[in-house]
Amino acid sequence: MQNTNNKFNQLKIPSTMVDTLSSLNYTEMTPIQAKSLPFILEGRDVIAKAKTGSGKTAAFGIGVLNKLNVKRFRIQTLILCPTRELADQVASELRRIARFTHNIKILTLCGGVPYNPQMHSLSHQAHIIVGTPGRILKHLKEDNFTPEHIETLVLDEADRMLDMGFSDDINEIISFIPKNRQTLLFSATFPEDIESLSRDILNNPQTIEVESTHEQSIIQQDFYKVEEYKKVNAVQKILNHSQASCVVIFCNTKIACNELADDLYDAGLSTLVLHSDLDQRERNETLVLFANKSYPILIATDVAARGLDIKDIDLVINYDLPHDNEVYIHRIGRTARAGAKGRAVNLVTNEIQFDELQEYLGTDIVEKEIDDLDNDKKYTIKSKYSTIFINGGKKSKVRAGDILGALTAGVGIDKSDIGKIDILDLCSYVAVKKGVEKKAFDGLANGKIKGKYFRVFLK
Ligand code: ADP
Ligand code: MG
Repeated sequence: MQNTNNKFNQLKIPSTMVDTLSSLNYTEMTPIQAKSLPFILEGRDVIAKAKTGSGKTAAFGIGVLNKLNVKRFRIQTLILCPTRELADQVASELRRIARFTHNIKILTLCGGVPYNPQMHSLSHQAHIIVGTPGRILKHLKEDNFTPEHIETLVLDEADRMLDMGFSDDINEIISFIPKNRQTLLFSATFPEDIESLSRDILNNPQTIEVESTHEQSIIQQDFYKVEEYKKVNAVQKILNHSQASCVVIFCNTKIACNELADDLYDAGLSTLVLHSDLDQRERNETLVLFANKSYPILIATDVAARGLDIKDIDLVINYDLPHDNEVYIHRIGRTARAGAKGRAVNLVTNEIQFDELQEYLGTDIVEKEIDDLDNDKKYTIKSKYSTIFINGGKKSKVRAGDILGALTAGVGIDKSDIGKIDILDLCSYVAVKKGVEKKAFDGLANGKIKGKYFRVFLK
């Protein structure tokens, strides 16, 4: 559907912001942005329901940043997210959109990270706080920041926050915030508990919805009938046929994730696993290694992977069909982000579940036989990059340019052989093309970055 009225310059926002958006290649508004932004910019309360990957962050982000008074160094916006990863993603998307204004301070406050440094950051004030409900409530209760200047409250992935049991925390947080605020609630699904929460905390809201199921034409969905004990073999066959290079496999349990990872490892495939048993450092590292293309396959549970915005996923495999049909929509929404083409392949072991899903999707689906996929395809899925871990990050003032310089000028690696560089607080990761990793590693191990020696490891 081409709609020529969906340009950002239709909105009442400064042209500098339109320019920034076009520098991010945001030329047209996504449907949820086109429908919600006029109301958001008017200052209305909004409930927006849209599938994952539809651009909800920029929808509220543009609204929030447009309203912000940078000269007033007070917390004006509070954004609640279900997990730290999502809060980090929201913060970085806001920073991208805010590139046109200097000195906007966005602080993340999440659980699972040390508390005292957060207190310290809060003492230096901020304009926008993004975080998880539990930790934000703790800071509020201990009087670490003043909520009385908050003008906008955003609940991102509200359904997920309620699923995770944050309902009481959210209500308590709201009791701290001024009543004459703008409240924006974003959710991919709209169960009864979200409706009652909205009734309680929103004021005459405008409800906006964009279609909830993915178009068959954008995500190609295949279903294979397979017996339980043949599922690992089925995954291998699917991978061999897929020509895919970036794959997420969903299992319903942590145990199933671990077992599948072990079985694929025995079959010669190294994978990454993401579930709630990992600590924060491991989760960060897993996401870095997947996003920088050092591993082509990520095996995950729903909780761990929900809402994550990893680009270029060309195939989602449902190793287990989810018990909830809406979860199915979320999972396959990991591929085909923002209009790209994607594929989802499903292993069906339970016909009743399959029938229910088919009914939910409202289409007749032809189930295929996994044995019809022949075994002799030549394609093997491989990672393009290897990652070198560097034991220094933001805190040691390491920047991406320093690592790039050390590798190119220092070690003599071609710039085109260097991939994504991620700088975290205490460490960094640099992806280098397979084949040059030994040279790159030896060079960094024996040379300096920014005049200092760092410990390095090949991941
Ligand atoms: P959601 O929160 O709805 O799951 P996100 O806000 O994470 O979706 O956006 C998904 C992706 O789409 C992100 O990579 C984002 O940068 C991109 N995106 C958002 N708005 C636009 C736009 N107007 N044009 C192009 N890409 C966009
Ligand atoms: Mg989102």
